[in-house]
Amino acid sequence: MSGLTISNLTVTIGGVRVVDGVDLTVPAGGTLVLVGESGSGKSVTVRAALGLLGRRAAVTGTATFGGVDAARVRGRSIGLVAQDPTTALDPLRRVGAQIAEVLRHHRTGGDPVALLARAGVPDPARVARAYPHELSGGLRQRALIAVATACDPELVVADEATSALDPGAAERVLALLTRRSLLLVTHDVGVARRLGGARETVVAVMYAGRIVEQGPAAAVLSAPRHPYTRGLLAAEPAPGVPRGALPVIPGRPPEPGERPAAGCAFAPRCALARDVCLRARPEPAGGTHRAACHV
Ligand code: SF4
Repeated sequence: MSGLTISNLTVTIGGVRVVDGVDLTVPAGGTLVLVGESGSGKSVTVRAALGLLGRRAAVTGTATFGGVDAARVRGRSIGLVAQDPTTALDPLRRVGAQIAEVLRHHRTGGDPVALLARAGVPDPARVARAYPHELSGGLRQRALIAVATACDPELVVADEATSALDPGAAERVLALLTRRSLLLVTHDVGVARRLGGARETVVAVMYAGRIVEQGPAAAVLSAPRHPYTRGLLAAEPAPGVPRGALPVIPGRPPEPGERPAAGCAFAPRCALARDVCLRARPEPAGGTHRAACHV
């Protein structure tokens, strides 16, 4: 099994730097959980790594899988569960036909109904005959997971793959996805906790187009170093705690065009900010558990 290595990835769209010098590694046979609020650049990062951004985007840096350009092996060796199952599935074709086409394209045997059942779809024969618009959001998401895993890729890149699912269905989907190397993109830092510690899991936290903290899941979850990660973990829903009682990170993430040219992009929201934070951009430091923070 191979891993994915993303090195110094930068994406500029319309003259605005959206992703800035991102380094990530999905361990072979392990999981990388890429966490951040909406607009942090997570989805753009994975789409750029897989060569899925259009010509309007200027991409520099590399993304390799088993030593070859990741974009070249997308589909067969790398399966993608896109963020929006509504647009990722062809609205004019039955779900089963779409899975069968993927199998044919890659000259792989398999039964669409069995693949839907493996993705936790109840009544898979009915769903195989259905058009995407006839399905709920959760069923569409699971159908998309069946498409992405049809050829048993070595790596799955899953963008908010469990967001439309109830907790039980999400557990089953995660169990299916973690049979291979997995890059899981999510706004929910708690997903990393639910994956358990059975295999190598890395958590990377993204803010304003940069990775601000990265390290083994156990270390990041139990001893977060960056104030943003601490804020995300403190806001994580907990049993018996009303949502309104949870602390929230004040303010909102800056839009790509609003990010400061110097200093730390998190400074306006950070209770620990000091003068140096406004002057100098913090660089990642700290060995295997790295954080980009002056404090
Ligand atoms: S560098 Fe400063 S502003 Fe940025 S997260 Fe660290 S303490 Fe807060």
